[in-house]
Amino acid sequence: MIELPALPYAQGALAPHISERTMGFHYGKHHAGYVANLNRLLADAGAGDGEPTLETLIACMGPGAIFNNAAQIWNHTFYWQSMSPDGGGDPSGELAAAIDSSFGSVDALRVELTAAATGNFGSGWTWLVRRAAGGGGAGSGDPGGAGAGGAGGGELAVVNTDDADNPLTSGHTPLLTIDVWEHAYYLDYQNARPAYIATFLEHLVNWDFAAANYAG
Ligand code: MN
Repeated sequence: MIELPALPYAQGALAPHISERTMGFHYGKHHAGYVANLNRLLADAGAGDGEPTLETLIACMGPGAIFNNAAQIWNHTFYWQSMSPDGGGDPSGELAAAIDSSFGSVDALRVELTAAATGNFGSGWTWLVRRAAGGGGAGSGDPGGAGAGGAGGGELAVVNTDDADNPLTSGHTPLLTIDVWEHAYYLDYQNARPAYIATFLEHLVNWDFAAANYAG
């Protein structure tokens, strides 16, 4: 059985920026629904003891329902951790130095994240990643990665993914994510995705989580 991970804070802890009502649906219905779906799919497929981890399913399953539900579980758990009731502000330490090296400044990164998240058409995710070693491209033709220069591994980049897709399948290390599916913001912001993104970056973004992922 895949378990629904506990939220790292109370459901109302991100209010007023993200309401308890949004969290109730987003965590309690959407995230929980992906867990229920995946467990049913794995049971139907005959998975028993030693069932694969989410990371294994994401890496090994081709496109389809098992991949979609496994990736959505992983992505949402990562998204809750990408926010904090004490979020916002600026990164520090090695992460800040890496951001300066890759984007020029934290403000330039915020501009790039905003452009990518605003322009991510339809349902998807916008990520800050540490690029795969070996010079692979940042994502597969995603416009969000277009601004990331250089071909070497280890640099930071902003990438967009569609639907459930996840940068792990491109070999990148996710540092942060913004959920830009409408269910993430519609109850609080209606169609104003840019207002949600601005609030995420000003009040919610958890740079300590990104720094731990960068160091990890
Ligand atoms: Mn979501």
